[in-house]
Amino acid sequence: MNKNSSDIMALAPNNSNKRETVCIFGTGDFGRALGHKMIQSGYSVVFGSRSTQTSSLIPKDAEVLSHTEAAQKAAIIIIAIQRQHYNFLTPLAEILHGKVLVDISNNLKINQYPESNAEYLAQLVPSAKVVKAFNTVSAWALQSGTLDASRQVFVCGDDMEAKQMVMDIVRALGLTPLDKGSLLAAQEIENYPLQLFPMWKFPILLSLGLVTFFFFYSLIRDVIYPYVYEKKDFSFFIAISIPNRICPILALTLLALVYLPGVLAAIIQLYRGTKYRRFPDWLDKWMLCRKQLGLVALAFASLHVLYTLVIPIRSFVRWRISSRTISQVLNNQTEPLNTTNAWLSDSYLSLGILGFFLFVLLGITSLPSVSNNVNWREFRFVQSKLGYLTLILCTAHTLVYGGNRFLSPSSYRWYLPNAYMLSLIAPCIVLVVKFVLIFPCLDKPLTQIRQGWERKPQYSE
Ligand code: NAP
Repeated sequence: MNKNSSDIMALAPNNSNKRETVCIFGTGDFGRALGHKMIQSGYSVVFGSRSTQTSSLIPKDAEVLSHTEAAQKAAIIIIAIQRQHYNFLTPLAEILHGKVLVDISNNLKINQYPESNAEYLAQLVPSAKVVKAFNTVSAWALQSGTLDASRQVFVCGDDMEAKQMVMDIVRALGLTPLDKGSLLAAQEIENYPLQLFPMWKFPILLSLGLVTFFFFYSLIRDVIYPYVYEKKDFSFFIAISIPNRICPILALTLLALVYLPGVLAAIIQLYRGTKYRRFPDWLDKWMLCRKQLGLVALAFASLHVLYTLVIPIRSFVRWRISSRTISQVLNNQTEPLNTTNAWLSDSYLSLGILGFFLFVLLGITSLPSVSNNVNWREFRFVQSKLGYLTLILCTAHTLVYGGNRFLSPSSYRWYLPNAYMLSLIAPCIVLVVKFVLIFPCLDKPLTQIRQGWERKPQYSE
């Protein structure tokens, strides 16, 4: 009888929206925003404050009590107060005994203190169970409901039960908890909101370095050289010609650098005969920012398209065409159509258009809203197979653009080759190595290694 009734109880839906009482210490921006969201989600909220006077800013369904009174009303206490004020908690140690204290604090600088704020809180109140959570969510996002970009909440703590209770609250607020392990992870979680585009640092610094190098390279070849030898002033090349030289070089080089770590990783795995040994740190970091490298490459490719579109309306180009026509008229000469040149020109333009189209497709599939809607095989197909096809098309676009100028001595000024020739170095290396890795004698062992097979170490006697 009893069992039946308990089964019915378990099956019956829980119609009550009311959840347990949660205490929040601090009626500042974050405390109020979190309190408001919790009340909306069905929790009873009691604030612990230095002043028990309520104000219009405090959610109207919440109680405001002294810290001691508020702490007695809940098993979970969220500390929405800056770390430097935590010492007021020491005299409350007895009331806080066995309670779950949620540390949500952030610092102003990375690794500002020797220990994390959560570990400091655990030292101040050793009898409480400290959990780190919510620090990556902003008060503004909580209040405005614009949590799309920051739905994940990192949670860590030493007490599994306490961590579970906090993760239940996170879920009830419509957010996604991500268990980061013990309280040792708190420092990393606290540093997280202070990082400035961590994944973009390397691609942006690398791009800046390459842009600077190729700018001065092109300036020497295309502006200074003609000025020195022919007394011609081509300084206006700085506005369009040089940027339109740098952008495709950067796009192609960075695209190749998206695929280079993959082939390096394959070589390392083949050499080691296992996938269970970590890659060097630099390679790990490089692999993690491939998406950002690809997006920066796409930005340069798009700029190249824009710069190319304005070529016909440039004064210099119009002058060159008209002066050539006038000289043909004056000399009573007609230049016959060179079909080879026409083929080369149309082919390189067509390869560029196709390459850019696939480049854009790659960029679109890397957007979370799109990549979340394709399965792993589809994503790999686009990013790997289509990615390599993009690299092949863009490399071919550059090679055909070069045409027969590669070996022509006039392409070298002060022994410096045309800048686009340098842009072929990285993609050619990647494509040649990838081609070699496709051979069955290398592809087969590599596939086995990636499926978990390990080559036995050779012992010498
Ligand atoms: P805040 O607006 O300055 O509020 C802090 C609250 O702490 C005050 O309203 C006050 O509440 C209490 N307080 C101040 N001095 C105190 C003292 N000496 N002793 C005891 N209580 C004291 O700050 P906040 O923006 O809400 O941030 C609070 C915590 O949340 C910080 O650790 C911050 O790093 C973290 N955080 C904030 C955000 C955000 O978007 N704001 C995001 C993530 C994490 P009473 O007057 O009620 O006592």
